[in-house]
Amino acid sequence: MEALLIWDDGMSVGVESLDNDHKQLIKILSQLMSAKNENSEWHIVEGIFQKLEHYCLSHFAREEALLAKINYQQLAEHKVSHQRFINKIPQLKKQWYADSSEPEVVKEKIVIFLQQWLLKHILEEDLDYVPAINCFQEFRRYKTRKKAKNPWLRFCSVKLSQHLTLSKRVIITTLLPSIAVFALCFFILKDNYQRYHNITKVVALNSMIEQVNGITHSLQAERGLSSGYTSSNYQNFSQQLSNRQESTDAKIHYFLWLLDQPVNRELKQSLQAYIVKVQSTVDNLARHRMHLDQKLISFDDTYFAYTKLIEQLLSVSDHLVHIEIGPNYINDISAINSILRYKEFMGQIRAMGMKMVESNQQDIYANKEISILIGKQLNTLRIFKNASNETQASLCEMYCDGAAQRQQLEFTYAKVMQHTDKEVRAQRWFKVMSSKIDMINTVVEGLVVEFNDEIYRESQNLKMEGYLIIFFLSLFLLVIIFFALVLNYSIISPVRKLTYALNEMSVGQHNIHFNHRATNDEIGSMQLAYEKLRRKLLQGDIYKATVSQQQEEIQYRKSQQDHFQHLALTDALTGAVNRHYFNEVLEQEIGNVNTHGKPLSIMVLDIDNFKSINDNYGHNVGDEVLIRFYQACDDAVRSSDVVARIGGEEFVIVMPNTELNNAGRFAERLRENIAGLEIFIAEQHISITVSIGVSQWHGDYFTSAESFVDHADKSLYQAKKTGRNKVVVTPVAQESH
Ligand code: GH3
Ligand code: MG
Ligand code: MG
Repeated sequence: MEALLIWDDGMSVGVESLDNDHKQLIKILSQLMSAKNENSEWHIVEGIFQKLEHYCLSHFAREEALLAKINYQQLAEHKVSHQRFINKIPQLKKQWYADSSEPEVVKEKIVIFLQQWLLKHILEEDLDYVPAINCFQEFRRYKTRKKAKNPWLRFCSVKLSQHLTLSKRVIITTLLPSIAVFALCFFILKDNYQRYHNITKVVALNSMIEQVNGITHSLQAERGLSSGYTSSNYQNFSQQLSNRQESTDAKIHYFLWLLDQPVNRELKQSLQAYIVKVQSTVDNLARHRMHLDQKLISFDDTYFAYTKLIEQLLSVSDHLVHIEIGPNYINDISAINSILRYKEFMGQIRAMGMKMVESNQQDIYANKEISILIGKQLNTLRIFKNASNETQASLCEMYCDGAAQRQQLEFTYAKVMQHTDKEVRAQRWFKVMSSKIDMINTVVEGLVVEFNDEIYRESQNLKMEGYLIIFFLSLFLLVIIFFALVLNYSIISPVRKLTYALNEMSVGQHNIHFNHRATNDEIGSMQLAYEKLRRKLLQGDIYKATVSQQQEEIQYRKSQQDHFQHLALTDALTGAVNRHYFNEVLEQEIGNVNTHGKPLSIMVLDIDNFKSINDNYGHNVGDEVLIRFYQACDDAVRSSDVVARIGGEEFVIVMPNTELNNAGRFAERLRENIAGLEIFIAEQHISITVSIGVSQWHGDYFTSAESFVDHADKSLYQAKKTGRNKVVVTPVAQESH
């Protein structure tokens, strides 16, 4: 029996117009079903089929238009299946009214087919394309709502998240910022290292400047003494000169040794040209001293030779400025360098002055060379002022005040010139000037030490900075790892667990539940929702089990009832309809004949000489023969016929919708069947024959069911009388004649 198809919200495909169509189709099918049950007129059913076809056509057209709009890939397949169904409807209509022995069954099959088709159409075909439609509509909404906040950003992130698993997304969100931080730290550290590396260079440079200062200082003194030695016609300063020469040699020696140390290798490479120059300076110095010893050299030659040597050495600072060490250090070195120059000019003035005091010249500016040297000095002090930092400026103080220095120089010269003895003048000049130069030298040494301290402080700071960066980087790394783990434990694994539990639930396993108390976040809410669902399903299962138990009981009781009812309606021995129920059936059939006007026939059957079977084989065998006889009759009749046992070995077959002559022919066939039956019981072959009387109902002739059966009985009697194993058909008209 077919069940009623009704709309359920779960069938919704999410598109209102299509849902309405589906509801309408369900309504049409239920109309068809009730038409079948009520055996409705042809024109009503025809109308329902027309409505079905019309509705399907418009529904399919709507659906296809929608799918074409979203560019659905399986549209062609969809169209084919739609067309197939449309073609099928006229066929079904034809089958509905085709002549069939069992029209009810055919109709039932048609209704079931239509219901199943509709269910398949909604749940399998239509629900498949819904995600595509929703996706399309969402996309359209993004396009139309241009004012929406970053629709493209959202669209892209949705697309991206479709291609990345949750765990990958977690890794990316934690990894990307860490990569950025690492890159940043890398650049800071690189810069830090570069600065530190520069500082080590600067340290080496500073020590070189220190050495160069020592050597030039010594050479300057040597120059002063040599100048005095030559201008006094190689008489004075001889001892002082040879002492000074020794001290200069020791300094040069140390400097060359220092340059050869591995620490300064890198620096040495960039200073290669300069080192070669220093070597040649040393060679020149030796040659020059030899000339001096041999008294072959004049004041001017001595002065220029030494000045050139000192110039060569001092050019180290000029060269150092080209090495990349950062602008701050370059300024500091320039400041030191300018004081070194200043000191050198002072040395040159000292040497020049030696010649002047010998020649009794009263005005210091009478010598053009000295005038230029003083100008150069002022210039170097200006450079110092610009390049020096505060500490450097305070270290230099009054030694770097150009005007004061100039005045002092004029004053010193004038004072020296007061002495009448030129030897005393030379001695005084050399002494005063040397003490001036020594003081400037102290300033230079102070500057070098200060610079060294500054570099040391800076290098310590840089080291500290590097350690701090590494420390914070490690800390950051730990925090990132910690958060990645937190995300993993709090999101990924609960989501995986939930997915597993839901999958298990989908195959009927309801026993997975979450032990821990749910956290107070979205995941916790998901777990709570899962737990609610699990309990609901569990409740449903328990309810179903109870219901099915109740149903089993009901079923059992019903079958018992059926059993008793069956017992009340049928004959206990053969299972044929009993006499009492037969009367009812016959009354009902006669009633049907009177309303529908269809023919109704009966036949009365009586086994011939049955008594002798009982006598010959016993009562039990007789019973078994009765059973076999009934089965043979029941096998032969149509499903609408009823076989009843109305006496010991007397049966009636009620044949609705059957004309008399058809009934007669059937009776004859049955008689032959029975006669041909081979009954084998208790190792005995038994054969029987039957006599049959056949009658058709005629409402205007028979007054009751009893008179109808009597009429057939009379024919049976005729058959018995005329030799048994016979069928006698007596039409009513013939009898009435
Ligand atoms: P005929 O009808 O050909 O004139 O002869 P018959 O011997 O069949 O007719 P009769 O009516 O004289 O005998 C019927 C016999 O059927 C009498 C009875 O013993 C037997 N009979 C009736 N009911 C049962 C039954 O339920 N079981 C058995 N074994 N025999 C039965
Ligand atoms: Mg009999
Ligand atoms: Mg009898």
